[in-house]
Amino acid sequence: MSTNRALRIAEVVPLFIGGEWRQSSSTVFSPVHNPSTGEVIAQTPMNGLADLEMAVAAAQKAFPAWSRTPAARRAKILFDCRQRLREHFDDLSRLICLENGKTLEEARGDVTRGLEVLEFACNIPHLLKGESLPEIAEQLDSLTWREPLGVCAGITPFNFPAMVPMWMFPLAIACGNTFVLKPSEKVPLTANRLAALFQESGLPEGVLNVVHGGQEVVEGLCRHPQVRAVSFVGSTGVARRVYQLATEHGKRVQSAGGAKNVLLVLPDAEWDPTVRAIMGSAFGCAGQRCMAGSILMGVGTAADEARERTLAAMEALRLYDTSQNAAAGMGPVIDGVARDRLFGVIGREASAGGNLVRDGRRGIPERGFFVGPTLFDSVTPERLLFRQELFGPVLSLARPASLDEALTWLNQLPYGNGATIFTSNGGAAREFARRVQCGMVGINVGVPAPMAIFPFAGWGESFFGDLHVQGMEGICFYTRQKVVLSRWDKDYMRKQGW
Ligand code: NAD
Repeated sequence: MSTNRALRIAEVVPLFIGGEWRQSSSTVFSPVHNPSTGEVIAQTPMNGLADLEMAVAAAQKAFPAWSRTPAARRAKILFDCRQRLREHFDDLSRLICLENGKTLEEARGDVTRGLEVLEFACNIPHLLKGESLPEIAEQLDSLTWREPLGVCAGITPFNFPAMVPMWMFPLAIACGNTFVLKPSEKVPLTANRLAALFQESGLPEGVLNVVHGGQEVVEGLCRHPQVRAVSFVGSTGVARRVYQLATEHGKRVQSAGGAKNVLLVLPDAEWDPTVRAIMGSAFGCAGQRCMAGSILMGVGTAADEARERTLAAMEALRLYDTSQNAAAGMGPVIDGVARDRLFGVIGREASAGGNLVRDGRRGIPERGFFVGPTLFDSVTPERLLFRQELFGPVLSLARPASLDEALTWLNQLPYGNGATIFTSNGGAAREFARRVQCGMVGINVGVPAPMAIFPFAGWGESFFGDLHVQGMEGICFYTRQKVVLSRWDKDYMRKQGW
């Protein structure tokens, strides 16, 4: 079936507004693919600004009752949502394989990490507790409350269809806000499934709404007078633009961008776990993680050993259709545009004198959007391979002479998401952790992944804003504090004669 014909007959993804499924008013559509086969499986409406108005209105309407619902009752509903998601864990994971292309194991990780945020959100009565000080002055008691903001919006990328939306909306709604989610147009089905599961678990209508679209809808959310806060995760250019636009319009914004993460290996690293960690970090999710390691730094003699061992593991990595096959290996990248972009970079860098050791354009399945594991050696800090986020299974080996030189190179990167050191020496690890200029640091950990009870602390061009997603920073982001001072007449009872 040709792509055009498939696109015409593929189902248009509905919106979820005020507890109902609706068709979009959009006139422009974007294809959703099964990346393993290239087949078009749905189409996402792209320019439904009228849909956005309806969604914000539904969220605004639901806000007064939901924000006044006792936190303990909101928590109970979230516990029920958590139970329902667990019951549908497998079909959610398979849906992620279908529309995103990651392996079943990776998709299960995606759902699990999202569930962990939901579990954190179930603690909301405790998390919302304020502070108090009786007698802050004579007869004066002081206490703080955390109150919700109103309608909050979330805009999410394609690479974690369950986890990233769930970094946002469970915390926002637990705090008493209502929410409009705008997922990536490339993976709209998982977001819709999540909304359906939350509704079936008793979440009142209008508390969680899902709209679909692209730039126009995102900018509409950033400008909308009734949207109080915007959470964004995606590439750096868009993250910066969303931050600027939404702050200009008076909103609270947390905006996470792209990354270029380093895996630094010292000669005393324990090799077997280190190579497993490098492989998982660089090629897990086909390199499409914001925490993916894409620069491998082998310090001194570690470089040759890292090269040979990693190369052997790359040769053993199998590519396969993740929508059919649960075997371990690596899936495709998200779409033909991503594949062609990566092929272009590999070709241009190789022609410009890059030392291409393994070429991921060769030996790949005939259909689907596959890029094989790719390795460049002797990459230096001025090269595009070192500086630019590629977001695919392309690893660049750099060869600094010392830990000092490695840190100098690393700290020149504009991004600040993550960096990891592999070593058996505590002193070297500590020195690295102290001097590295990024927010998530790994010590013998391939992916220093965000954990639900901690913030995901990107720095530099990897994050725009003040309060990060997840953990207590997430709770602070979705609430504002009220300080209540009270004074009562201590002689009142005497005056009453009681
Ligand atoms: P993307 O920036 O293309 O899209 C993200 C969202 O923004 C989508 O919902 C998309 O519809 C919307 N969008 C795209 N272009 C836009 C524009 N011009 N104006 C307004 N909105 C627009 O990102 P992606 O390709 O979906 O995801 C990959 C990127 O996300 C990578 O750069 C990755 O590092 C980053 N990412 C970062 C984190 C993090 O926590 N820092 C986590 C996951 C992914």
